[in-house]
Amino acid sequence: MNILLVEPYYPRKYPPLGLMKMSSFYKQNGDNVEYRQCISTIGLNLDFKPDRICITSLFTWHLDKVCETYHNFKKKYPKADIKIGGVGASAMPEHIKQKTGIEPYVGILPEIDKMPPDYDMSDETRKLKESMVFTTRGCPHKCQYCVVRMIEPEYYEINGWEDAIEPSKPQITIFDNNLLSASKSHIDHVFDVLEKSNKRFDINSGFDVFLFKKEHAEKIANMKIKPIRFAFDKMNQEKALLRCVEYCKDAGINTERIRVYVLFNYTDTVEEACYRANKVIELGCKPFVMNYKPLDWLGNETYIYEPEWTKEKIIDFTYYYNMPVIWNTISYDEFIRERRENIFEKVRHQLNNKLPKEQKILEM
Ligand code: SF4
Repeated sequence: MNILLVEPYYPRKYPPLGLMKMSSFYKQNGDNVEYRQCISTIGLNLDFKPDRICITSLFTWHLDKVCETYHNFKKKYPKADIKIGGVGASAMPEHIKQKTGIEPYVGILPEIDKMPPDYDMSDETRKLKESMVFTTRGCPHKCQYCVVRMIEPEYYEINGWEDAIEPSKPQITIFDNNLLSASKSHIDHVFDVLEKSNKRFDINSGFDVFLFKKEHAEKIANMKIKPIRFAFDKMNQEKALLRCVEYCKDAGINTERIRVYVLFNYTDTVEEACYRANKVIELGCKPFVMNYKPLDWLGNETYIYEPEWTKEKIIDFTYYYNMPVIWNTISYDEFIRERRENIFEKVRHQLNNKLPKEQKILEM
């Protein structure tokens, strides 16, 4: 079969891991596989006529692009079997069905997920510095603001996850949503593999503050993990976060190595969000503030948890706390005053308002 893997063109950081695994799957079956990142079919140069087209999705607020891509490809290749999947489609399958008439695939395809990613899928994946790895799927916590419970409802450890590590790539990124919920033997094995690889690595979703133990801090203290991540999304995580940072300090870890996700604009007040971000700074760590959007958010505009937050407050909060150079220099209140008075900032504000990609600033 001729298989065309399509990623609609939208801003994102990592190449589509699901399509990379599909690429391996179909190539192993002896199929011809091509990958394209596009929305339109104009100028599309393929060596074959696709029998099957697999379109992926990521954020729900780009689903209009996914549906547009579907219609463009349906028009050009009316006989092809077109499938839609990915995170965004899994979060809003009814929307996809309504806009395209087809049922998207929801969640993980087990036979695809066990394949290693095809790092030869595109120029981008060939040049990628890191191996993209899941060692577990799911998360037992099921936080209301998190899409994981919809995509990966069951928690399980993946056999053979090591196959996703490409020896020629200098770094490894572990994308597990909650590695520390795994069995002790699994966690020990993951750390052993990472240690023996001697590569720099990132546990991208961070360590669960409720499950992080002294032994974990001691284990990672001298490993090439950068940064060490936790989250302080809810007030009830404070005590646990303080304990994690203490464990790290006791193990000789400089707190500057620690990065803490701080969710905001969810159901919090600005004061509460500032309290959490300031607490992270007070601990000697760096916050990384994350602007919440509902799981079925379709619009391009900013989601605002009113009346607590406004668009301006969201931008202020993001700029201030995601830039150590700013919070190292002035207090939040000073920053707000300076910003309002600074003519340069005002001009930049106006320019930003004209830019269609303002969203990118909000998502930093
Ligand atoms: S702990 Fe993290 S991964 Fe798990 S459900 Fe909550 S936000 Fe999602």
